[in-house]
Amino acid sequence: MLSTIDEATLTKVATAMGEEEAVMLVDHLKNIDETTDDEIATTTGIRLNSVRKILYKLYDHSLVSLRRTRDPKTGWFIFHWKLQPDQLEGFILSQKRRVLEKLNVRLEYEKNHDFYFCNTQSCKRVPFEEAVELVFHCSTCGKPLVHCENENFVVQLSLKVEQLRKELGE
Ligand SMILES: [Zn+2]
Repeated sequence: MLSTIDEATLTKVATAMGEEEAVMLVDHLKNIDETTDDEIATTTGIRLNSVRKILYKLYDHSLVSLRRTRDPKTGWFIFHWKLQPDQLEGFILSQKRRVLEKLNVRLEYEKNHDFYFCNTQSCKRVPFEEAVELVFHCSTCGKPLVHCENENFVVQLSLKVEQLRKELGE
């Protein structure tokens, strides 16, 4: 029905939602006009609680619409959900913008600091100011802290930032 939503878009939505199940759910919704959370749970095999959690998350981002009716027999509310495919593009753009902002902050931090490292993989790098306070010894393993080049990382970050800027048309 909504053939405009491709796999890549679905994956991006799921990543943004932080849930594998979100992809299944959106994938299911795109083939259906309108449906209930019960139906989604039954058809996809996702637990009803998870279905509701994901739906409310999607709703928060205006990616699904919600219509409420009352069950004439039980008097309970029935929630009808519908995918809002026209909102997906905007959602992905705003997610990309958020990532870009974070990457920019990180890039500036990497550019403006000198890092020191003990060369133990499980330990953390520390900026110069902190290394001075530690008298150039790792606070975790006790080994000496030596200057650590971050040029490659800065280049990688810059490339990623540039790529995102292009995708966002900035
Ligand atoms: Zn260490």
